[in-house]
Amino acid sequence: MRFSVLSESLSGMEATAKRLDLTGILVDLFGKTPPGVLPAIVYLIQGKLRPEFEGVELGVAEKLAVRAIAKSSGASASKIEEAYRDGGDLGLAAAAVLGRKAQTTFVAEPITVERVYETLMRIARLEGQRSQDMKVKHISSLLNDASPQEAAYVLKLLLGTLRLGVAENTVMDALAAAFTGDKGNRPALERAYSVSSDLGSVAAAAAAGGLGALAEFRVSAFSPVRPMLAERARDAAESVAKMGGAAEGGRGGEFAAEFKLDGERVQVHVSGGRVQVFSRRLENITPQYPDIVERIPGLLGADEAILEAEAVAVNADTGEFLPFQELMHRRRKHNVDRAVSQYPVTINFFDVLYADGRSMLDEPYSERRRLLEEIVRRDGGEGGGRGTGLEFAACVPMSMVGDAGGVEDALENSISAGCEGLMLKAPGAPYQAGSRGSHWLKLKREYRNELGDSLDLVVVGAFFGRGRRAGKYGTLLLATYDDTRDAFPSVCKVGTGFTDEDLDQMYQLLSPRVTRRKNPRIDSQMEADVWFEPELVVEVVASEITLSPVHRAAMGAVRRGAGLALRFPKFTGRTRQEKSAEGASTDEEVVALYRGQRKVAAEDAAGRG
Ligand code: AMP
Repeated sequence: MRFSVLSESLSGMEATAKRLDLTGILVDLFGKTPPGVLPAIVYLIQGKLRPEFEGVELGVAEKLAVRAIAKSSGASASKIEEAYRDGGDLGLAAAAVLGRKAQTTFVAEPITVERVYETLMRIARLEGQRSQDMKVKHISSLLNDASPQEAAYVLKLLLGTLRLGVAENTVMDALAAAFTGDKGNRPALERAYSVSSDLGSVAAAAAAGGLGALAEFRVSAFSPVRPMLAERARDAAESVAKMGGAAEGGRGGEFAAEFKLDGERVQVHVSGGRVQVFSRRLENITPQYPDIVERIPGLLGADEAILEAEAVAVNADTGEFLPFQELMHRRRKHNVDRAVSQYPVTINFFDVLYADGRSMLDEPYSERRRLLEEIVRRDGGEGGGRGTGLEFAACVPMSMVGDAGGVEDALENSISAGCEGLMLKAPGAPYQAGSRGSHWLKLKREYRNELGDSLDLVVVGAFFGRGRRAGKYGTLLLATYDDTRDAFPSVCKVGTGFTDEDLDQMYQLLSPRVTRRKNPRIDSQMEADVWFEPELVVEVVASEITLSPVHRAAMGAVRRGAGLALRFPKFTGRTRQEKSAEGASTDEEVVALYRGQRKVAAEDAAGRG
């Protein structure tokens, strides 16, 4: 297939933003495409070479493209860059300088889509020292034979600057029209796409066998399923209304409330002992989670499965969840082993899409959840929890609620557990792959009420660090001062905000204060590795104050049996050596801050904030 046919269509698509026109151009293009080339065409119009999960990336830098254009055109790099600056598009700049040359030379042989696609694939696969030169060679060989318009599109594809604005839905409309004779058949394509995440193979099937072939698509291990998404609910009342729960005060149906964890969504595929992990965007992120990959097969009561989970960074000493950003340290290509030991994660399963040959997509949530709990075995957190109850793998806690009060309580519990809110799920709903609907609702406590104030807290204990922090105090246990009892109740652990120098300084300041036994004025349920004389005061900021079943600050002041704790505390870098421990923030102050943020939250909810 001549590449000029594609570049003509691309040019037509760039010139319009109307969906109907785009669809028309695509139907026409698909009609002219031989079956063997169809997948390539489908990827290319989306600016890709292969489906997302295969991770084939072009990644050609502008500098390199300029070198290739120079090589083909004979123009100097500075001349090309000038044309680029003037027009703002390197593809057009190439077309301009090559166009000048085209008038004087003879164009050898028309380039084909197949040749362009193969060359782009070859470029994407090149690695290593000499790869840059090879890339330049491949690109310039294409440019040598390309017309100016073709050259412009080759470069746009290479640089990832093709912006057609064709949504996947438009492509599916056009495929449905071209190969099943009716745009109305798009749902059949959507279904096939949802379970394969590969629009190229969906197109090939539609072209080869129409609706019958599309119906053959099945969920299978290692083909990621497009994730089901949630709608947002403003508050508890709205979420109940949307879920069709208690209406007008009457008690309606119940629905599930799961903790909404703040991490990265992962889709875990397992088959024959092999494991692959896909991100929410369906990239293959298996290399980031060697620890998960290693352990999952042993935790599953199924040979083959597709499971969804939230991976969350944790403090290995305490099992407490850490903010999402911590997890991003794993997004690196080198030193993954180090990242894995420095940033441990828990994996918290919330859905099962497939198990042992059975697709679960059309099963109701309640049945999927039941199966999930049946096949996922909990792991005590070998190497992680140190007896603190850290679960390496567990199902996200779930409760059934039916009214706004129940939702509020569940929300409170989830925040105290270090989560960011709730996911509410309709028990009868299937897994709607690739779509956002009201069968899943997300309800978050907004953090507009971030504590404006820092707190001065007393260091009462510490946990030894791991990895880079080995031999130092990696995490400190902090307390407020309760002046009514003359005690130091624990209020949080803090392990973030420390530079290497801070850690060294802490060690110097704290090691002379180590005590053999816990000072009786310290009120804590935790088992620190070392206890200190309560003397050193440090400054900390936090995102909010929450009720806590573990920490002892302001015990019972807000709710019977519950203390208060800081959520996401962070050391500001300041030790307050001028302050005595009795000068630290008091329980009273912490209660006032807690009430203050509740008030702000309530006012916000009422629309007055
Ligand atoms: P959002 O990213 O704000 O649209 O919220 C949806 C995301 O919440 C999902 O993509 C998951 O990554 C995450 N999540 C956390 N906990 C759950 C849960 N229990 N069920 C479903 N998704 C969850």
